[in-house]
Amino acid sequence: MDLEEALASLKAQLLPISEVEHCALQHSRGRVLAKPVTAQLSLPPFRASAMDGYAIQAGKHDQILNVIGESLAGHPFQGDIGPGECVRIFTGALVPANADQIILQEEVSAREGRQVRFNVHSPSESYIRPIGNDLKVGSQIAAQGDVLNPFLMGSLASAGVSVVEVFRKPVIGVFSSGDELRDPGVAVEDLLAGQIYDSNRLTVMQLLATLPVEVRDLGRLADDAGAVSEALANGALDCDAMITSGGVSVGDADYISETIEKLGTLAFWRLNLKPGKPMAFGKIGNCWIFGLPGNPVSTIVTALLLVRPALATLAGTVADAPLRIKAKLTTPLQHQPGRREYQRGTFTQHAGEFAVSHTGDQGSNRLSTFHAANCLIEVDKETGDLNSGHWVNILPLTYLIN
Ligand code: AMP
Ligand code: MG
Repeated sequence: MDLEEALASLKAQLLPISEVEHCALQHSRGRVLAKPVTAQLSLPPFRASAMDGYAIQAGKHDQILNVIGESLAGHPFQGDIGPGECVRIFTGALVPANADQIILQEEVSAREGRQVRFNVHSPSESYIRPIGNDLKVGSQIAAQGDVLNPFLMGSLASAGVSVVEVFRKPVIGVFSSGDELRDPGVAVEDLLAGQIYDSNRLTVMQLLATLPVEVRDLGRLADDAGAVSEALANGALDCDAMITSGGVSVGDADYISETIEKLGTLAFWRLNLKPGKPMAFGKIGNCWIFGLPGNPVSTIVTALLLVRPALATLAGTVADAPLRIKAKLTTPLQHQPGRREYQRGTFTQHAGEFAVSHTGDQGSNRLSTFHAANCLIEVDKETGDLNSGHWVNILPLTYLIN
């Protein structure tokens, strides 16, 4: 299965969460709206001055006007303006009912006591913001599935919304697997021969941290069929989806795909993707399960390109397609036709053009190729080796982890 096919299949199978909860607006950042929101009032709700100046009745003024009061934001002037009269007014203040023009304070040539004199002219605009200029009562501010970001949260606050209805966050359990793994925190001198630190569990949890999901650390699976089966069966009871890494190839200690098949259904296993070939996907009871490959680079690539967009669907929203930018290779790039490949790269911008180089040896065990990188270089399955100067698609990492 190609990447796009796998992604389409994931999105088609993962039905969005339907439970709705109420959330205080100030705590709703990143959450997914469960219902459209419409404006309860127009904005501005009254005719408001766009400038500091003097409110007058257009056409009925002399060059010298009597200032009969003040209208400040939050402190409106009560009363009417007659001929030869004006009201001192400031930005955001309510415009008196029978005023239809603001004379900018810059137009005032002199102010003596309660009188102002201004230059006669025909203003190009009234400097009055009509009711509903920004937002009309009843109009839709946001749709179901919209993710609350600071801009939307601000709009909702301005429309008087203080509580939003959002989808429950799906619970995502994260496992790692492998008898060789030890927790970070164990002293280096306490590592036994053949042991390494577990990095995938932490990385995957971090890669999900910006999604509207609740991430749970479910620990590590031992390389034992019975233990894997018990842990996955238990995890499936509490989670909407689980993610494992490792144990999904065809080695003697690889139990993930056979356990998914035994306890539930294996929807697919193996992708036409490098790195990331042995990824598995299936369901145990009501819980989806993503079996990611164990090599840290493969774990990250599949988490970024498949798991994150799939979990966005589960959470009730739609992940944007990754941002792809054209960049010119500054190093030759090796690729054997057959599988779509993502290499780690570093891009820079010069005079409006992007240039990219890969980060060296692309072994899927080499996590160090990632922290030096700021993008993935996308190489299509039909492509062979590429010379420097060739244009390629790059996917900036910051957009993939946002
Ligand atoms: P596996 O598919 O389980 O054989 O794992 C493939 C490779 O990835 C092996 O070299 C594992 O030691 C390594 N690996 C698997 N899981 C992790 C992990 N959580 N952290 C670091 N390396 C891992
Ligand atoms: Mg293993």
